[in-house]
Amino acid sequence: MTDSNNVPNSPDLSVHLKQAAPIALDVAFGCHRGELVALVGPSGSGKSSVLRCIAGLNTPSKGRVTCNGVEWLNTDQDLNRPPQQRAIGIVFQNYALFPHLSAMENVAIAIQDGGAEQRRKRAQQLLEAVNLGGLERRKPHQLSGGQQQRVALARALAREPSALLLDEPFSSVDQATRRKLQRELAALRRQMVHPIILVTHDLEEACLLADRICILHHGQSLQIGTPAEILSRPKHKLAAHLVGLTNVFEGEILEHRTSTKVTILRWLGYSLETLYRPELPVGQSVDWVIPPQHILFHQRVRPSRGERENPVHGVVAELIVLGDNASITMLVDKRDDTPIAFNLPTHVVHRNHLEEGDKISVSLQTNGIHMMLPEGIHNQ
Ligand code: ADP
Ligand code: MG
Repeated sequence: MTDSNNVPNSPDLSVHLKQAAPIALDVAFGCHRGELVALVGPSGSGKSSVLRCIAGLNTPSKGRVTCNGVEWLNTDQDLNRPPQQRAIGIVFQNYALFPHLSAMENVAIAIQDGGAEQRRKRAQQLLEAVNLGGLERRKPHQLSGGQQQRVALARALAREPSALLLDEPFSSVDQATRRKLQRELAALRRQMVHPIILVTHDLEEACLLADRICILHHGQSLQIGTPAEILSRPKHKLAAHLVGLTNVFEGEILEHRTSTKVTILRWLGYSLETLYRPELPVGQSVDWVIPPQHILFHQRVRPSRGERENPVHGVVAELIVLGDNASITMLVDKRDDTPIAFNLPTHVVHRNHLEEGDKISVSLQTNGIHMMLPEGIHNQ
């Protein structure tokens, strides 16, 4: 993996795409050598189309794609290198192996240089790198889904690609195999020197594997950032919803306190202290979000000091125990348009004798409250 202090400013793979049809695309992101960027979006959001444009299988009406300083696509200059000149390794969801060839042959066929014996040796090394040593002679139908996907990955690496594109590579295998393949990819990529783009609709997978996540919605890249940034600092309400954040509300900027460096957010009669954001005008309506881990439940049995921080009161509307964890929905001021969701360990629920309908209080941690301008109004 690239040392983050060492990341060059211009990304090794840089992608700009814009078109109105056949599907609308408005995409800009980069990926450094050794970095894994996950392209995340719901089904139909254009993820595969973006990969196809990078690989040269589709040509957008406007766009520029460069890799390691080499231009692959520049529509302004009518430059469009064919896929074979782009040296890309791709792994698709459905493996796309040659059914009549063995695992070894499927990999060897992608190796461009060297004699038969050299290619066989290299294919052997690659199959061992993806933990398939011993299964070289099997045909695809004699391999499990996970094993076939490893062959596909070995074959993609055999091209000595300048970039690796993975299109939902784990989505057709069972959950246990998926976890195993994810761990293998996480281990393998430490030795990888290429930019890696992983397409997935699974945000959890993206958070596990990616250095950065690029959120795609209706063919548009909405935000790119580390998993932590994406989850705690979404750019606007839509981005928050797309990453599954549910505690999204509307409020208004009440004042900026310069001496204590806090901004006060007015919400349902509460004045919430938030991180200092003097660039937001007083009176401005904002959307705001708080991730559940920043909501602190006030225990009846053991009050703690953190309770002075943005206390908010309500009733438990829903309490669902799932094993060791319970998810709670609280309605603030009994209004049903203000559900705040958070989680508690089940033992805390029991110790506090918590039930639906109970009055409770929580603290909304100042550093967890993130305010967003309505879409169309730009933040920075
Ligand atoms: P994803 O991979 O995120 O599921 P795709 O890139 O496959 O999304 O497709 C995005 C949308 O574009 C889908 O609605 C799909 O049906 C449509 N689409 C894909 N390719 C074409 C094409 N060549 N012509 C017209 N529509 C297309
Ligand atoms: Mg797709």
